[in-house]
Amino acid sequence: ATARIGVTGLAVMGRNLARNLARNGYPVAVHNRSVERMKSLVAEHGDEGTFVPAETLAEFVDALERPRVAIVMVKAGGPTDAVIDELAELLEPGDIVVDCGNAHFADTRRREAALKEKGLHFVGTGVSGGEEGALLGPSIMPGGSKESYARLGPVFESIAAKVDGQTCCVHVGPDGAGHFVKMVHNGIEYADMQLIAEAYDLLRAGLGATPAEIAEIFRGWNEGDLESFLIEITADVLAHTDHRTGKPFVDVVQDQAEQKGTGRWTVQSALDLGVPITGIAEATFARSLSGHADQRAAAAEAFGGEAGAGWVKDSDRDAFIEDVRKALYASKVVAYAQGFDHIRAGSQEYGWDIDLGSTATIWRGGCIIRARFLDRIRESYDANPDLPSLLVAPYFAEAVASGVDSWRRVVVDAVREGVPSPAFSSSLAYYDGLRRNRLPAALIQGLRDNFGAHTYRRVDAEGSFHTLWATPDKAEQAE
Ligand code: NDP
Repeated sequence: ATARIGVTGLAVMGRNLARNLARNGYPVAVHNRSVERMKSLVAEHGDEGTFVPAETLAEFVDALERPRVAIVMVKAGGPTDAVIDELAELLEPGDIVVDCGNAHFADTRRREAALKEKGLHFVGTGVSGGEEGALLGPSIMPGGSKESYARLGPVFESIAAKVDGQTCCVHVGPDGAGHFVKMVHNGIEYADMQLIAEAYDLLRAGLGATPAEIAEIFRGWNEGDLESFLIEITADVLAHTDHRTGKPFVDVVQDQAEQKGTGRWTVQSALDLGVPITGIAEATFARSLSGHADQRAAAAEAFGGEAGAGWVKDSDRDAFIEDVRKALYASKVVAYAQGFDHIRAGSQEYGWDIDLGSTATIWRGGCIIRARFLDRIRESYDANPDLPSLLVAPYFAEAVASGVDSWRRVVVDAVREGVPSPAFSSSLAYYDGLRRNRLPAALIQGLRDNFGAHTYRRVDAEGSFHTLWATPDKAEQAE
């Protein structure tokens, strides 16, 4: 046994993770189902550290120091189960299997329970940052037992991204907690990207600006509160010219957004837990809508495909840009507030005891949603771990309150001009719904009692009531 840790599954992610481990001084055993991938990794990058090549899984297991740590980085779903089963046959009690793929947290819970029976630790770990992150420092969200983290944590903490000297890896909680948090991270990423896309659409339509001009606006925004990886690359993508045609790149790309499914998982889980993550849901549905090409063509034919153009007067240009910036920021705060509510609900439901502030710390670097304002999220939860909503933390409450007039103007413009803004407008509706003294939910309760005797609670008395609707003057009957 000569390797401190091993990686099986050496496609883009596994390969880069193995290189990252080797570059940080960990001798790493490397294995892949098709041997060529393993050989090419060692041939091309063997000088970056100590790789222990293994042609079979048995050789791979034999190469590992005890207790063994085997990272699985293969295709999610069936392939992951197959590799875990094969590994479990070869490992011994106390060994640790780490799944760094994009697993659903329910699968992770199932796998953890199954391996525990054999005395093995199973650590479902969320990894974000794509290929480049895996190589240079990803954001790492490990679940699993405390015992396994004691062995694994120092390794992961040393290869993860660092921000202000702090590592972007924290033990999230037991069993599926890491993959759950990774799932919500991806959901927030969906919302963040949809909001950016809506901001771009409004700027382009309202100002009649070119993508290159809008790129400059985003570059400016990246100097302030919105500073983040996604805003930075938005400027790069908008400024990019297609080499084939000389047109703006964004104009030659088909306008149908794809998805691998983690946004859908997030929304499904939020429905199960009863958490209104409207921003993430709208973002997921907006991608679906964009993909329905036939329906879109029919509707464009029936109703006309144009939206308002150039409605912003030159004298109002700067004010409009600032309004869109504030609307984007406020909507983004809503998306994160909803995402953190979702994590809190998952943590309560599954008994994970997740620390929300340190979750924000993990995302400060390495991952796709890395952003300056995650510091503010951490500070908010550090100051008050029982915060009812991130929206009411003093810093965010001030940001939203000072942006609300801009937010309303932007949504009014979008609605009037026919520019779809599902994430902007639903985030504003969420804010208004949350802050409103009385909601029409009272009427819904009345209707439910009328047609289905579902009962209701009163504002002025304890208990459940049902009105005898055939003879309403007979008033209510306590249950
Ligand atoms: P892929 O998801 O494309 O998976 C390819 C790897 O899985 C290859 O090593 C392949 O081996 C192996 N594999 C497939 N089926 C089997 C099987 N039945 N038995 C054994 N091995 C099998 O690779 P990626 O590197 O893109 O991703 C790896 C994991 O990381 C996935 O779970 C993915 O969701 C996750 N992830 C990916 C990110 C990304 O940006 N790509 C970001 C974060 C997580 P072979 O070479 O023999 O075909």
